[in-house]
Amino acid sequence: MTFEELGLEANLLQAITDMGFKEPSEVQEKAIPVLLQEDTDLVALAQTGTGKTAAFGFPMLQKIDVESRTTQGLILSPTRELCLQITNEMKNYGKHLKGLNVTAIYGGASITDQAKQVKKGAQIIVATPGRMKDMISRRLVDISKIEYCVLDEADEMLNMGFFEDIKDILSHTPDDKSTWLFSATMPKEVSIIAKKFMYDPKEITVGNKNESTSTVSHEYYLVNARDRYQALKRLADANPDIFSVVFCRTKRDTQKVAENLIEDGYNAGALHGDLSQNQRDLVMKSFRNKQIQMLVATDVAARGIDVDDITHVINYQLPDEIETYTHRSGRTGRAGKEGISMVIVSKSETRKIKSIERIINKTFEKKEIPSGIAICEVQLMSLANKIHNTEINHEIDPYLDNINEMFVDTSKDELIKKFFSVEFTRFYNYYQKSKDLNVEAQNSSSRDSNRGSSNPNAVRFFINVGKKDGYNWQSLKDFLRDTLSLGQDDLFKVDVMDSFSFFNTDKAHLTKVAEVFTDFKVDGRFVNVEVSEDKGRVRDRGRGRGRDRGGRRSRDGDRQGGERRGRRSDGPRNESRSGDRSGRRSESRSGSGSSSNSGSGRPRRSRRR
Ligand code: ADP
Ligand code: MG
Repeated sequence: MTFEELGLEANLLQAITDMGFKEPSEVQEKAIPVLLQEDTDLVALAQTGTGKTAAFGFPMLQKIDVESRTTQGLILSPTRELCLQITNEMKNYGKHLKGLNVTAIYGGASITDQAKQVKKGAQIIVATPGRMKDMISRRLVDISKIEYCVLDEADEMLNMGFFEDIKDILSHTPDDKSTWLFSATMPKEVSIIAKKFMYDPKEITVGNKNESTSTVSHEYYLVNARDRYQALKRLADANPDIFSVVFCRTKRDTQKVAENLIEDGYNAGALHGDLSQNQRDLVMKSFRNKQIQMLVATDVAARGIDVDDITHVINYQLPDEIETYTHRSGRTGRAGKEGISMVIVSKSETRKIKSIERIINKTFEKKEIPSGIAICEVQLMSLANKIHNTEINHEIDPYLDNINEMFVDTSKDELIKKFFSVEFTRFYNYYQKSKDLNVEAQNSSSRDSNRGSSNPNAVRFFINVGKKDGYNWQSLKDFLRDTLSLGQDDLFKVDVMDSFSFFNTDKAHLTKVAEVFTDFKVDGRFVNVEVSEDKGRVRDRGRGRGRDRGGRRSRDGDRQGGERRGRRSDGPRNESRSGDRSGRRSESRSGSGSSSNSGSGRPRRSRRR
């Protein structure tokens, strides 16, 4: 099916080509012909990200008369962000329609300016219910002649308590208009609206009503409530290219988490209703430009944000209404891309996971917060990757002779190490601090590490396979579990390094491990497992197996060097991070919680471009 076959006019087809839409989405295919050919009411149910805006936008644009200055179309949407987004889309769709005037009406901006815009002859008004009602009562808009009324994200508008406002607004519209209701879900309230305000509506459903996007995988991480923030940072650090929305329950938490992240050197920003419109616009702009990698948001403020490429949705806290989870996870996995929805839960909330699983009809994978050492490796490899893929800037060529002279006695290995240390040591030192916290966090939070470092019945093993053999902590754990026929909880603190790894089991399995791994071969190579003196505490690691085994390898050697440096400069104190952070703190505190762009203060990664 092509857009042409749906019956759209040339000017709209041109805009569609300009935007690069190849073919209509399912909801568009179903809704557009009906809305073009009939003057009917319509209820359309389709997931977030399925292209609902164009499904009502194109027909409305084709049907209105741009020669007239009368307001003919009204689109109600729950939030300012959405309102602006829809307005933008409509302007894009209608950019070849001469004389088209689409006006956005929303709270938090000058009402006089908006009234002026309307007066110029807005054929289409896109509005939030609150401000719309306000403008009607002040007679700043006239919707008595509208022909088309869209209730977009109807479920969310009702969630937000806009029922009375909508009722009030609709009472100022003519009876013979067409009402088009678009919603991701169909709760009772929405069907009440449909019954009350619509006449024999046609119905369109795309996919299962509450089905969550299939390209999204769902994971949860069990931590102590007080370790939530540390867990969040680890998840971010373990994913250097993260581009995410972090959901909090309240405006206060949202602001606080964003501030903390910024203070800790992340490219983060806050989005919630207590910010001024201007602040919110700035944050959204930075997010779209990917200057912000972690957008911390409330459900209401984030509703409908249409930013593609979001890699992770992080549920810092679960929503009060578990149905809201679908809206959250729908922010990622858009446009056929894969996405991950992560949930940080405390023990008391694990039951909620089960309820969500029932709603989304999918199972969560229980995962463990990566260890500090694993995160360091990820970061280091990410840096190596970045350098490897960097295009050479030949402006440097004239200076090369001088630089070469400086390094005439430096070997390639040494040069690489130095080069990496410039960025990585800073990260590593910083991370040492996190590790101190994590040891504490591990001791108190995850069952695994309870058994690992403080459980006297735990045994730590060394195994001579690691990353270079293609393992990560998860796959090694799987391998060990299968090989040893142990349960998921019998193996813990699996730390994979470059050429070797560690893991813990209960003492009870000691003989079994020894037996299974006697003369054990994989692909013709002996896999050697020994009891390690390393107790699984981070600080012991460099001194244990690491040095004698890994010292041969340059990367491990480098890591140990970094660790020594880190230890010397940091001393035993826990809060020595402040030295590194003091400069950043002052600059990142400014403003509303939008991203700190200071490159120098960021120990872990450089900004995305
Ligand atoms: P919804 O309202 O259902 O959540 P949107 O209308 O916001 O979805 O559309 C999601 C994204 O998909 C937007 O970036 C939009 O420009 C894009 N889009 C919509 N229709 C198409 C299409 N037919 N082909 C490609 N992209 C589309
Ligand atoms: Mg939408």
